[in-house]
Amino acid sequence: MPAARDSHTTTDTVIVGAGPIGLELAVSLKHLGVDYIHLEAGNIAHTVSWYPKRTRYFSSPARIAIAGVPLITDNGEKATREQYLAYLRGVVEQFDLDVCCYEPVQQLERQTNDRFLLTTPRGSYDASHVVLAIGDMHAPRRLDIPGEDLPHVSHYFDEPHQYFRQKLLIVGGKNSAVEAALRCHHAGADVTISYRGRRFDPKSVKYWLLPEIEALIEHKQIHFIPESEVESITEERVCLRVGDKPFCPPADFVLLMTGYVQDPTLFRMAGVTLHGENHAPLVDERTMMTDVPNFFVAGTAAAGTQHKFRLFIENCHPHVRKIVRAITGQTPPAELVNTAAETFGLAES
Ligand code: NAP
Repeated sequence: MPAARDSHTTTDTVIVGAGPIGLELAVSLKHLGVDYIHLEAGNIAHTVSWYPKRTRYFSSPARIAIAGVPLITDNGEKATREQYLAYLRGVVEQFDLDVCCYEPVQQLERQTNDRFLLTTPRGSYDASHVVLAIGDMHAPRRLDIPGEDLPHVSHYFDEPHQYFRQKLLIVGGKNSAVEAALRCHHAGADVTISYRGRRFDPKSVKYWLLPEIEALIEHKQIHFIPESEVESITEERVCLRVGDKPFCPPADFVLLMTGYVQDPTLFRMAGVTLHGENHAPLVDERTMMTDVPNFFVAGTAAAGTQHKFRLFIENCHPHVRKIVRAITGQTPPAELVNTAAETFGLAES
């Protein structure tokens, strides 16, 4: 963490968040000569950095490339977490982007002159425009059950080796749960999945994961406990309720793959209206401006906490052009913004 300092900076635009879309926006603003500051609570692409090691993106490289920089992989295969992080570091180097890393925004207020004041541990920033590109996965979706914080229980899957020859119970029934179950099974873990649903939803689990998990369950290589709810976890067991009956299988490790939630604090501080079951910021989709004038949202942050996933990196690139136009009145050069959404006919928010 950089040392504290007490500086005050006046600027045109503050971007908060240096994930792929925040970085893509920074490239355009820099190209057009906009005076901007880029704040990031961690290092660049913080959310990508906690993905399980060697996770492969579901999206093809062309769809997650940013700022006109090709993302090239061997045989055009999908990029891994490691390849994408290296690629994003390369984009920052190529455009010499200045990102203030490890500088979380602690206070954000709209002042009486309609400008914004953002405060971090290192100083304060007075800006005409703010863009939140903060993503939608700040914290795990907790179950709030006894034992959830025991040392052998985690909401984050890191890598499969540690589960070799261990009894691993995974909770959840969507992509994270299924992918973790497959990878850990292949690494020699004794895997059980507890899911509150009756069966996996083919619309929610990737079509190349579903046949394998279903075959392994059918051949009892992976144990599946449908319609089960976790009530508590102890050092040795997970206590489930299956229908009206308790069932407590043993578990050496527990992975709670129950999804992630957005932290809406900065939207609330700015006075943005949050709506719907996702608590999504109210946004004019033509400009990506919220109902607070000159306060914008870019990337998956625009969706709030997603239940049914609608926004991904691949269909958020158009946010960059909309925001740049709204802030500067200019259109960024086509070669600096990924046009995957237009090219592939992806749904645009
Ligand atoms: P998710 O899609 O939100 O799924 C969460 C799972 O947890 C669901 O099965 C849900 O049940 C269950 N759940 C939620 N609350 C629960 C509770 N209180 N008690 C019991 N179960 C609960 O989260 P995810 O699987 O982590 O996926 C998040 C995003 O990451 C998705 O966009 C996904 O496609 C993506 N992802 C990408 C990759 C990759 O690129 N390789 C890998 C994994 C995930 P219901 O099914 O009943 O809702």
